[in-house]
Amino acid sequence: MSGTVDKQPVLIAGAGIAGLCTALGLLRAGIPVRVLEQAAELREVGAAVSLAPNATRALDSLGVGEALRAASNWPQRAAMKHYQSGAEMVAYDMGPEMERRWGSPYLQLLRADLHTVLVDELRRLDTTALQLGARVLGVSQDGDSVTVETAAGSFTGTCLVGADGVRSAVRAALYGDGAPDFTGYVAWRGVVPTDSLRNPDFTPDTAVFLGPQRTLLRYRVRGHTAVNVVAFARVESWADEGWSLPADRAELRASFAGWHPEADDMIEGLCRAGAFKWGLFGRAALPRWQQGRVSLVGDAAHPMLPFLGQGAAMAIEDGVLMARALVRGPDVETALACYERIRYPRATNTAKRADAHGLRIHQHLVTASADAPVPRDDFAEFDFDVATTPLDA
Ligand SMILES: Cc1cc2nc3c(=O)[nH]c(=O)nc-3n(C[C@H](O)[C@H](O)[C@H](O)COP(=O)(O)OP(=O)(O)OC[C@H]3O[C@@H](n4cnc5c(N)ncnc54)[C@H](O)[C@@H]3O)c2cc1C
Repeated sequence: MSGTVDKQPVLIAGAGIAGLCTALGLLRAGIPVRVLEQAAELREVGAAVSLAPNATRALDSLGVGEALRAASNWPQRAAMKHYQSGAEMVAYDMGPEMERRWGSPYLQLLRADLHTVLVDELRRLDTTALQLGARVLGVSQDGDSVTVETAAGSFTGTCLVGADGVRSAVRAALYGDGAPDFTGYVAWRGVVPTDSLRNPDFTPDTAVFLGPQRTLLRYRVRGHTAVNVVAFARVESWADEGWSLPADRAELRASFAGWHPEADDMIEGLCRAGAFKWGLFGRAALPRWQQGRVSLVGDAAHPMLPFLGQGAAMAIEDGVLMARALVRGPDVETALACYERIRYPRATNTAKRADAHGLRIHQHLVTASADAPVPRDDFAEFDFDVATTPLDA
């Protein structure tokens, strides 16, 4: 919609998953963007990511489906296993079965590889869109434009999309709702070379070990060569400096002592490969995201716990819908209101479901009776098609 964005670009703060997807959606429609990223060089950290069918469907609409598939693993089967016996408590087919049911695949890949797919496409569409070293310091707006002060200078655009993560400077400028809150979970994350494991031929390729107040997730990435391992624990508080630090191996081993040899293999693999310990931080939902010509996408708008594997998926969907709304117009403020009307309920509800699912799986072996059904994800998010959902609903 040419009336929405004329000569000025759409400014996007942050070149994470949400920011890059917003940029791709706009560039594909011929709308200029400026992506302002604080990092001096692009280096995605943090292991791997699972992309459910709603996320891969959305990425297909951005034209990166082929590169995405080439970089990904296609998990065939997933199970929840008992932390001591190793027995499968519940299992389901993934692979062709999932793709048949939802029309899009469930994929797993290194975050760095996803980032490369998105950045390569961005640079193919516009070599000048990305501005590195541009940490956002301040935001101001009037009736016609938004100006963003950054470490790399001042940028003016028709509107600003805050895609700068859970510690968003844009959100702080709009709402000043302080630092994020510790959620009560820590996660040790790392990528373990398969050939360093005692049993490299473990099955199924995707599993969650369920223990009291602890879970351990593992899945293959980069073919058969590596395993993404994430060990979660519920704890009282986060006393460490910062929000991620090299793992203390003794603490990690003690937290998962007595677990089944297959889970222990992963913990020892993490210790050898070098894991990071992350505090998981969140925020209370904002009453709204938009203020005039500025709005929020991804973790800046709605950080969520990772227990449904939907944080990146919501960031991708946000980007696709933000671009669709801005392309349609008829003006920036109407477009941002349309984006929020569609995305706010879906993302807020998913964040609530991720909270509840996290509690259920961490408390199952603490509070449930022996014959209680194992809490499993009902895949309620998978159906949604953000590229075709009506904007006028
Ligand atoms: C342990 C764990 C496992 C997870 N697993 C999954 C999973 O399997 N599937 C899934 O869908 N989701 C998963 N998630 C969630 C997912 O990683 C996030 O929801 C997603 O990365 C959010 O993307 P984003 O682009 O909004 O934010 P980010 O990825 O945080 O990107 C923000 C970007 O903004 C930049 N930035 C920050 N501040 C500024 C500033 N002031 N100025 C300019 N730039 C700035 C940052 O450098 C960064 O590039 C997981 C999360 C965790 C913690």
